[in-house]
Parts: sequence; C-alpha cells; structure tokens
Amino acid sequence: NADIPKPVLDVIARLRELGHAVYLVGGCVRDMVRKVHPKDFDVATSALPEEVQRAFRKVIPTGIQHGTVTVVQAGMHVEVTTFRSEGDYLDGRRPSSVAFERDIVKDLSRRDFTINAMAYNPLDRELVDPFGGQTDLQAHVIRCVGSAQERFSEDGLRPLRAVRFAAVLGFTLESATRDAIPATLGVFRKVALERVREELVKTLMSPRATFGMELLADTGLLDVFLPEVARANAEAARLARTAAQGSPVIVEVRMAALLADLVDRTRAREIGLRLKFPNKTADHVALLVEHAKLEEHVADADPALRRMLAKLGLALLPHLIDVARARISARAPDRVSELEALFDRLEALADAKPPLSAKELALTGGDIMATLGVGPSPIVGEATRFLMDSVLDDPGLNTAETLKTRLQEWHARTAK
Ligand code: ATP
Ligand code: MG
Repeated sequence: NADIPKPVLDVIARLRELGHAVYLVGGCVRDMVRKVHPKDFDVATSALPEEVQRAFRKVIPTGIQHGTVTVVQAGMHVEVTTFRSEGDYLDGRRPSSVAFERDIVKDLSRRDFTINAMAYNPLDRELVDPFGGQTDLQAHVIRCVGSAQERFSEDGLRPLRAVRFAAVLGFTLESATRDAIPATLGVFRKVALERVREELVKTLMSPRATFGMELLADTGLLDVFLPEVARANAEAARLARTAAQGSPVIVEVRMAALLADLVDRTRAREIGLRLKFPNKTADHVALLVEHAKLEEHVADADPALRRMLAKLGLALLPHLIDVARARISARAPDRVSELEALFDRLEALADAKPPLSAKELALTGGDIMATLGVGPSPIVGEATRFLMDSVLDDPGLNTAETLKTRLQEWHARTAK
C-alpha cells in the first residue's frame, strides 16, 4: 500500500464509509502485483455516478454516461468509474450500451486481458483475481478474459493491445489469444488509425520493439496498417526492426529507422499522415528517411555536406545521426567507425553555424534590390540562389561587403 497516494486512499475510504464496494482496478493493480510503480490509479465502485458526485466536494463529470467521474482530492485527479458491463458491440470498437453493475466480477469480466482484470482493495488488502491474472503475470503471458475470438470480435483494438502489452512487458501471447488474431482481422480493420498509431508507437518505443513488430507481422495485423513493412522480404524486415530497436526512444527516430531502407521519403510522409501522426512528425520522418543513408556521404567534401544539412535543417541533425548509426550498426557493424568520423564532421560543420537559408545571408532582399538597382522581380530570386550557393561553398564569404562585390560581378556576367 506504500505505493498508493494518500488522496487515492482517501477517496476509497470515503466511498467505503458510505457503504459502497470500492477497488483499485486495471493497470495499477497489474503494476503493483509486478512490483512496479503504477503511473496512474483507477478506482472502480458500486456507487452510481450521481452518488460519487455527491460524496465529494470537487468533481469533474468526465464521462458520466460511461460512469466516470474525476474526483479532485487534495489537488490530485482520481478517476472513479462505476462497475459496469457492456452491451453488444456493433462497430468493432464501442459497445452499443453500458449497464451499471453491483458486482466487481461483472466489471472485471468485460476487461481485455487477465493481467488487466484484477481488482485490489487496499483497506482490507483484498485482491480479486477471478481469471488467473497473477498466474499469467508470473508466467509472462497475455491471455484474453474469456474467449479470445469473441473478445477480439467485439473490439478490434484488443489484438493490437495484446501485442503492445507483450512487447512492453516482455511477455508472450497465450496460444489461443494469438491464434484468434488472424480470424478477427476484419474487425481490426475498422479501428480508427489514430488508435492504431498510439498502440504502434508504444510497441515501437518498447525495449522489445523487434519482438513486437515481428509479432505484428506474423499475426497479420501489420499488413492492415503498414503493408510497406509487412510485405518487405524477411531479411529487409528483420534489419529494419533491428535498426528501430537499436535507436534511441524517440518516435521520429524509431519510425525513420524502421522505414529508411524500405520506402522513399514520399512514401514515408504518406505513412506518417496515414497513421495520423502530426504533420510535423510526418515531415521529420520523411526528411530523416531521405537522408538516412549517410554512408553514401563519407567521401563528400564540406560544401556537399553543408548542402545536405541545408535540406535537412540543423535541428534534425542529432536525430539523423541516431537513425544512421542504428541502421549501420544493424546492417554493417564493420562500417560504424567510418560513419562516426562522418558524424563528427557533420557536427563540427553544424557547430560553426553556417548560413544555410536565405534569411541568414548577410544581404537582405532589400540590400540585393538596392545593389542591383531593381525593384521586386524574378532576378532577386535568382540572385539570392546565386549568393546562397556561394556561401554554401564557403561560409566565409557571408559578409555584406564580399556578397555585394560578388553580386555585382554576377550581375555584370548575367546581364550580358
Ligand atoms: P497503461 O499502462 O498502458 O495505461 P492500462 O492497463 O492502464 O495500461 P489503459 O488503456 O489505461 O491500460 O486501460 C485501463 C484498463 O481498462 C485496462 O487495464 C483494462 O482493464 C481496461 N481496458 C482498456 N482498454 C480496453 C479494451 N479495449 N477492452 C477491454 N478492456 C480495456
Ligand atoms: Mg492506464
């Protein structure tokens, strides 16, 4: 009980005082049994939502129709949900109705996996575990509550959650749970892609990303939302997974490491948008994929590297190095030191803060027009590109005086 914050215990004690059944449920119970510190505490009770609202001074009606009330206790937000069961699932994602229940076991039986279907009452230190959650935790298996086939047919997200929990916890899927996935893919196809992405990200960011991605591929789930990876040949897919798991735990980096050798930048961006990543994330993944093959640049001189940095953007360089390092470690470990020398050169070039875009030129658009004696016209764009090209070759040229001279020379040459 030492793990449970005082406000949570106070909420539980208050509901008990009023004669209601009350338990901690879900992920926090799983984590306490595993002796891991839970990240949040969910409370379930036989009290109806109105009764919960009346029992506390400060409450937020978060999801009253589903029975959830947020109690604000000593500044902490505690979610309290009335025991419930669910009606038939019609859309492969949400039950058509929910009914409030008096019995905790009814509530636990609607939950997805045995390890997530335990309840704990800290007042009498009572663990309610009707489906063998403790045994499965010890055996490191993810097992559906009841018939896997039925549970996956109700809610298409569950198979993906099963894989995610397996990857995050380092567990395996119990065989009936695993075997039910291919037959229920039709329901999985109806799941909103942002929900799919959330689970994919958790899987990909886990310490067993390779295992999780392989399981997604083997069960047929991956083909539904990432056919580019699912249909890659076995060796290419293995290298992509290894690169992803070998890279730092940063979404853009892991996505780019996974995709870099399987798709081009356009497809990478399309995948990012398809999976409803924010536009900026999709753009970053696309840029990282475009430039990931840094081994092709080991012989480049500084101007070529600067041009590459200009396209990439300096801010993404640390991520690009992460992606390139993970790829090369997976594909050609003997080339890592050669690449490290290139990374050092790129970092040194970046540290020198060279001008990489027109706004960093020592001459403004106004200066250029004045020097050329023209107003706004296409020639200003051409002149800017010429100057940009000069300073990418040699950043030392980026002073107003030098650029003015070069601009006049250029103008004299092109005007003829
Ligand atoms: P996490 O550490 O990822 O938060 P969690 O177990 O708390 O893990 P949540 O998604 O927060 O997972 O869900 C809380 C609880 O609600 C789960 O433990 C499970 O009992 C139940 N649950 C969540 N999603 C589903 C679902 N799709 N089907 C059935 N039960 C679910
Ligand atoms: Mg949770």
